[in-house]
Amino acid sequence: MIVVMKEGSTRAEIEQVMQVLKQKGFGVHLSEGTEQTIVGVIGPRDRVRELGIENMSGVEKLVPVSNPFKLASRAFHPDNTTIQVLDHVVGGETPTIIAGPCSVESRDGLIEIAQAVKASGAQLLRGGAFKPRSSPYSFQGLGEEGLKYLAAAREETGLGIVSEIMEPGLVELVASYVDVLQIGARNMQNFALLKAVGKTQKPVLLKRGFSNTIEEWLMSAEYIMAEGNPNVILCERGIRTFETYTRNTLDLNAVPVVQHLSHLPVLVDPSHGVGHARYVSTMARASIAAGAAGVIVEVHPKPEEAWSDGSQTLTLKAFDEMARQVRQLHELTKSFQRQEATM
Ligand code: PEP
Ligand code: MN
Repeated sequence: MIVVMKEGSTRAEIEQVMQVLKQKGFGVHLSEGTEQTIVGVIGPRDRVRELGIENMSGVEKLVPVSNPFKLASRAFHPDNTTIQVLDHVVGGETPTIIAGPCSVESRDGLIEIAQAVKASGAQLLRGGAFKPRSSPYSFQGLGEEGLKYLAAAREETGLGIVSEIMEPGLVELVASYVDVLQIGARNMQNFALLKAVGKTQKPVLLKRGFSNTIEEWLMSAEYIMAEGNPNVILCERGIRTFETYTRNTLDLNAVPVVQHLSHLPVLVDPSHGVGHARYVSTMARASIAAGAAGVIVEVHPKPEEAWSDGSQTLTLKAFDEMARQVRQLHELTKSFQRQEATM
């Protein structure tokens, strides 16, 4: 349920509504948007109705929220959310470009990649130190050593760091090195992990599970937000279908659907989405055209020598070109969106 306040309602009226709800044991969430002030209510709908909130001073109306996600829903927060990561704003005016190797390999190699992707316009460096591999015999990542290399690359370049976290018990360690905690597709419904990252204020890049619906994905965002961390960035990375010529099927439908349902910024990972380097730039462009706030891609100076996911990894040169295209298309897409908004 949301309480829509009247235009020009006073601070005292808003406080009064919130106080009544809190006293009755409801969760409340205030959103002071550019057009409307909304008090989101978490708790049984029928019991909210019994309180007579619609008769309180300054209240315009009560509107039920039918979706099971609340804090993540656009009804609770009509304006788009932006998330600050160092000096970059995710969901802001410039597209977010996250690039780097699938796995962190060596310190010098990582710094070389970081310098190159920075020169091409990336704001954030990705690299897995703890890797979720399908086989226990595959390289599992360098662990904390890898995190140290990532921190060294930030020191050298100023790029923010994005790296995957797989266990609740490692949140403190990983959070002490990175700027964005990545939750991978395989852990999207690891609820203990979602709760643990929710207890921090670190931005979280929440990837969609490859067999999960959009609603399940937004409920996972809700788990993080319900613990008190509002800084959730969604990332579509492809879902499993019957198709075999691509590693996954990149579900770009999800971009406009999520933007309709939620205020959270959504990025796309075309590397895992298609699984073949030759299609990555095309699908990065398609992601931006669909309205994504940016992309995350795998990049390596010698993709054929990468320790993981080499076949879907862009060369530094291919990435440079992709980044340029993404910036151009983002500007064009934004101008289309502005035109649509005035129609
Ligand atoms: C990755 O980013 O390297 C990764 C493992 O991604 P996903 O969780 O989307 O498979
Ligand atoms: Mn990978």
